[in-house]
Parts: sequence; C-alpha cells; structure tokens
Amino acid sequence: MSPAALQAALCGPPGPAQRRALAKAITLLESTRADHRAAADELLNALLPHAGRSLRVGLSGVPGVGKSTFIEALGLFLVERGHRVAVLAVDPSSSLGGGSILGDKTRMERLSVHERAFIRPSPSSGTLGGVAEKTREALLACEAAGHDVVIVETVGVGQSETAVAGMTDCFVLLQLPNAGDDLQAIKKGVMELADLVVINKADLDEDAATRARAQITSALRYLGPHAHAGTEVLQLSALHPKGRAAGIDGFWAAVQRFVQRQREAGRFDERRTRQNESWMWERIEAGLRQRFRAHPAVAAALAATTDEVRAGRLAASVAARRLLDLFH
Ligand code: GDP
Repeated sequence: MSPAALQAALCGPPGPAQRRALAKAITLLESTRADHRAAADELLNALLPHAGRSLRVGLSGVPGVGKSTFIEALGLFLVERGHRVAVLAVDPSSSLGGGSILGDKTRMERLSVHERAFIRPSPSSGTLGGVAEKTREALLACEAAGHDVVIVETVGVGQSETAVAGMTDCFVLLQLPNAGDDLQAIKKGVMELADLVVINKADLDEDAATRARAQITSALRYLGPHAHAGTEVLQLSALHPKGRAAGIDGFWAAVQRFVQRQREAGRFDERRTRQNESWMWERIEAGLRQRFRAHPAVAAALAATTDEVRAGRLAASVAARRLLDLFH
C-alpha cells in the first residue's frame, strides 16, 4: 500500500480496515530497511496534521508492580466510556535483543480484543533510542487513527523512563506498597519525572500503602518544593479495588486534574513543543554520530586515535578535535 493509501485508510472510519492500516503503518514506521525510510517519512508527514489530539499517558514501574493489570483495568474503564485507547511500549530489554520484559499481546487479554482498543508490543530491535523513536512515531499513527488516549508503558529502568516521560503529557509512576522503605525510584532520580505516583496492590497491605504514600509525598516535597508541590500520590488496587484505595475512576480523575492544572498554567502545549524540539535534536545527534562513524576519513583514523587515547598518549579532547576536523 502506498503511503497515501495507508494514510487514507488510517484516517478513515474506525473498523477492521482502519485497524489493519494502523498495524501496517506502524510496521512501516518501525522498519529498519533504508529503502522503507522515504515511504515512512512521507507517511509520517501525511499523518501529522491528524495527530496530536490524544491524551498521552506514560506509565512505568518495576516488573511485577502490576502494569499490565493496571492498563487492562484502565483501558476497559476508558473504552466503556467511549474512549478509544492505544497501548504502546518502550521495552529496554527488547532493544538488547534478549527476551522482552514486557511480554507481548497476550497480556491485557480482555482489552486486546476490544474493538476500541489497539495494543502494540514494543518494537524488537535497535538501541533504546531507536526503540523509543519508533514508539514516538507509532504514537502519532495511533492518534491519526482516532485513538484519544494513548498509554505508553515501560519498565523501571532509568533511561527508558526518561524517554517515556519525554513523549507523554502525564507520566505516572507505579510503586509497590513497600516502595517507601527503600525509595528506589528516588535514588534513581525517576521520582522527579513523575507527574502522578500510584501505589498499587494497596489491597495486600493497606497500612503499608498508607505509610508509603506519606513517605513518597514528603520525599517529593524534599525533591523540589515547586516542581512537585502538586504531585498527587494515590493508593490503588488494579486487581481488587476496595477500602481506602482509590479506584480506577479516582486515578482517571487525578489525571484530569493534572492535565487541567497544566493547561491553566500554559504548560500543556509548552511541554509538547519542548518534547518535539528535543526529539528533533535527539535525532540530529543520533544521525550525526552515525554519519561521523561512517565517514571514510574518520573511520580510517578512529581505531588508531582511540588506542592513543586509551593508552594515555593523547588527550581525549585533542583526539576529539582531530577526528572532528576530518569530518567534512
Ligand atoms: P507487570 O509486570 O508490571 O505488568 O505486572 P502484572 O500486571 O503482570 O502483575 C504482576 C502480578 O501482580 C500479577 O500476578 C497480578 O495479578 C498481580 N497484581 C497486579 N495488581 C495487583 C493488585 O492491585 N493487587 C494484588 N493483590 N495483586 C495485583
């Protein structure tokens, strides 16, 4: 199918044809074949005017915290209210060529078969930057197909969380009720990225969840009194909503409140603008690096110069300047 035909089918009425077009479009965007890139770029450009109208929700947490259970519950909650939900993933393990931490479509069994939901497993090759890049492009395709909530999930491994926070409007961190004790996320600097913190599995130990909530709330204050003043911390159970825990409806209301505050402060659009700009620079830097390494004069001198630096005979900065001078 040509990029124009794909775009037409994708932006057409919802249904099986559109779903197929969306899957095909993402496959094209994910392709690493050089001869596909021109068509992929043409498609991306054609989709752009139709994209941007969703709420982009990022979600992260360690394996086992309950991400897929939570997304299944949230997704079903949203589709029942008429939303069209897409779920995408940035999986750092898949970029390393090993098994996927996030698994595949068999997670979220009920959501994956719903006609108003679209679930796409993580692209399976490339560097983390490459995988995240494909997810950004897939996100635009989902929006063009009319999905008005796009959930991007990742596991709690520093870099991938930064990537997901950098492509979403609201970044949610899922924590276990005992998370407050070791404050892992705070150590890794991930807490700073969170717009909303959810302590999941609150049904297992309500008191622990309440303690974790208090600890995380005060830790957020300590991290940055201004930036995190409004960060809400919720207790929730994706599996058995009950007791003091907020339900999925409570979670969704918190997301709405966050988005409302962002809009009122003019930060919603500003964040997307900033994200687009840094996306461009990220790509420029990745492209430059690639071209630099492939440049014949650089390639010829690189190994020897690196050896000199490793042996301590040449200052790294001098080596860098010499190599850069070869790159015309
Ligand atoms: P993921 O690796 O983050 O996607 O985690 P999963 O969604 O696969 O959940 C891991 C395990 O925790 C599964 O056995 C779930 O049934 C269980 N689980 C998820 N959410 C809850 C919860 O709110 N309460 C309890 N008790 N178990 C949960």
